[in-house]
Amino acid sequence: AKASPGQSFCFFEPGMDRAVTERARTERELREAIAADAIEPFFQPLVELSTGRILGYEALARWRQQDGAVKDPDEFIPIAEECGLIGDLYFGLLAKAAREAREWDQGTILSINLSPLQFSDPWLVGRTLKVLNHAGLSPARLEVEITESALVSELETARAVIANFKRQGIKVSLDDFGTGYSSLRHLSELHFDKLKIDRSFISNIDTNLDSQTIVQAVTSMAHHLGLQVIVEGVETEASAQSVRDFGCDVGQGFLYGRPAPGHAAKQENSDSEPS
Ligand code: C2E
Ligand code: CA
Ligand code: CA
Ligand code: CA
Repeated sequence: AKASPGQSFCFFEPGMDRAVTERARTERELREAIAADAIEPFFQPLVELSTGRILGYEALARWRQQDGAVKDPDEFIPIAEECGLIGDLYFGLLAKAAREAREWDQGTILSINLSPLQFSDPWLVGRTLKVLNHAGLSPARLEVEITESALVSELETARAVIANFKRQGIKVSLDDFGTGYSSLRHLSELHFDKLKIDRSFISNIDTNLDSQTIVQAVTSMAHHLGLQVIVEGVETEASAQSVRDFGCDVGQGFLYGRPAPGHAAKQENSDSEPS
């Protein structure tokens, strides 16, 4: 493999050249896929636990291959981040997702993931608004999800970006809560609207006492701080019952629906909505 200009590989271990070649190929293909709009959103429902009503959908990136197969984000988001492609990926995905969301019932929320690396983009919020405007979706219907890891490395930038989004009427969720290293101080200082408890606490919640204690305490604390609580990874009716009992507000997980292409989300939405 020929390294592109500016790149250099210091040494190779046996088998490493193959991995490097493979990696360079994936990088080139990803660049092309983003340019060709081949990264598309799948949508997973966010359900109000007390009523079962669909409040919105999280857009999750999928890479549609030429043979129709679909690649999951853990196979390409890290590469997009390393190659400086994550911003382009986000704006392309947002444009597609917003066009879908415009067709949903009024008030249905679109939630989308931000990479911590995007905080250094001074045009992040401005371009987000521009994309929404172009798609005809009100900023009030968008939420952005930020992972805890973002807060540690970029606290001051994170603070400014969050405030900026909120000023525009875009809600901000703290994603994967409980897995990163954010301190409780971040919760009160950064003015999130919602807190998403990581699915590692939910998958075993109907039997694991520690998870129950943690989810209960976190929910109570979040509510006192004025945050809504979303639980990820609700897979069974038993765990749904537990999180309802603990007063969590919103559920997301295979029990309510797997991530699916846009038209499926729309179908599901209109079917489940009382008219
Ligand atoms: P996430 O933001 O925590 O998204 C939730 C992940 O949990 C999704 O995986 C979803 O399919 C999965 N999930 C949902 N319900 C259940 C359940 O009941 N059980 C289990 N076992 N899993 C469930 P997915 O789509 O593979 O995404 C993985 C991660 O990739 C996301 O985690 C997010 O961190 C990242 N990601 C996805 N799309 C984007 C994107 O557009 N931009 C960025 N920066 N990251 C993204
Ligand atoms: Ca998320
Ligand atoms: Ca999450
Ligand atoms: Ca996650």
